[in-house]
Amino acid sequence: MDKKKVLITTAIDYANDVIHIGHAYQKVLADCLSRFYRRTLGEDKVYFLTGTDEYGSSNQRAAEKRGITPKEHVDEISDKDKSELDSLDISYNRFIRTTDKDHNETAKRLFLKVFENGDIYKSSYTGLYCEGCEAYKTLTELDEDGRCLLHPTREIQKVEEENYFFRWSRYAEFLKDLLSEKNFVLPESRRKEMLSFVEQGINDLPVTRPKYKVSWGIEAPNDPDHVIYVWFDALINYFTAGNQNGFWDEHTRIIHLLGKDNARWHALLWPAMLKSAGEILPSTIYVHGFINLNGEKISKSKGNIIRPSELVSQFGSDVVRYYFLKHGPIVEDVDVSVDHIKQVYNSDLANGLGNTASRLARLAERSDLEFPILESTPSDEKFTEYLENFRVDLAIQHVWSKLSELDKHINDNEPWAIKDNNRLYEVLSWEINTLRNIISYLEPFIPKTAGKLGKAFGSEKISLKEQLFPRL
Ligand SMILES: [Zn+2]
Repeated sequence: MDKKKVLITTAIDYANDVIHIGHAYQKVLADCLSRFYRRTLGEDKVYFLTGTDEYGSSNQRAAEKRGITPKEHVDEISDKDKSELDSLDISYNRFIRTTDKDHNETAKRLFLKVFENGDIYKSSYTGLYCEGCEAYKTLTELDEDGRCLLHPTREIQKVEEENYFFRWSRYAEFLKDLLSEKNFVLPESRRKEMLSFVEQGINDLPVTRPKYKVSWGIEAPNDPDHVIYVWFDALINYFTAGNQNGFWDEHTRIIHLLGKDNARWHALLWPAMLKSAGEILPSTIYVHGFINLNGEKISKSKGNIIRPSELVSQFGSDVVRYYFLKHGPIVEDVDVSVDHIKQVYNSDLANGLGNTASRLARLAERSDLEFPILESTPSDEKFTEYLENFRVDLAIQHVWSKLSELDKHINDNEPWAIKDNNRLYEVLSWEINTLRNIISYLEPFIPKTAGKLGKAFGSEKISLKEQLFPRL
């Protein structure tokens, strides 16, 4: 990788409800990559941004229903989202809220630049709108009953209003070229999908809503009777925080992580907005799949929502992180269940890492020998390559294959039966240094455990008092 700095962003979550495990997957993924880059590039060379998306008619309506102001409503949701992330040890540099003052100013400034470039014009719009998506819908995007595919319980609205439009169509050729670059959208299947959307044609998009209909938004800088459309404002959050902190320049690899439902906005609208405003484009948009729970889509109407903090209180944050990173929807959708988490916990963590570490610690303690720390450990190119290509799942498998080799070495050499001290030292020091090497890869995935193991095996005298993963 030739860039010296990295900006990693997640989608900011819409503040109509507290996040569930489906949203949390992306935060764990972003956190793992951020921790990895901090270790390879340096703490201050990485900026990890997450947060909440707070404007729009859907939040305004939710607040009205509760008899509170929109600001009170989003304050509450945003706080709860934040503590959900904290329960998973998500090491974000900033939790941005689109209601933050600096974001409001930046959004207006960028909107104005696009306006001054001749890409925003007034026209009237007649069409359909889904409040759940906060998006205009064409008939082809609705089911047979005329309902949104993602929000089948909501009424689709017919809107007829004066709006300011973004001259999106002007950027069709630009987007085609951009999407022809191999790594702009990953994985490859998503890139092709986005390219085909452009080839089907790009229509101009309303990017304001009239204030008499939606007042909960950032005022359009060119017309006080309008607010900026929530998607147009929300996308700018990345630029607000990145630019302010020196992470929106040609030395930075700008990575947006998002779920497949947000891919079009990020791959097609956001680059066009930036191009129009004369700002630098992101480097890579990585699109992952969805999490289903026990074979069903996770949704409020299904009543099957699990909050990340509920899993954390049952299993601990490292276990939830490990499970998501290894079995999450890095490319395709996956099905998860609490039973499967238990299974993976027992096989990979209790019987795997936990067992090997405590076995070796006991052998080392009983031997009364000292095991000096090696000066340098070899770097692992495969591990680095997996993580630079977002494949946290393969990186974990790679580390756990080292763990299996170590287990095999212990079983083959039976250090507990060795009587000769020189031979025992030879066998154990190889095994302990191998484990130390494995430990050095763990922090991005399971930071708490990595810390405990680092302490236990981090000096000549080895001592591990705690059972890391008691069997369930
Ligand atoms: Zn919808």
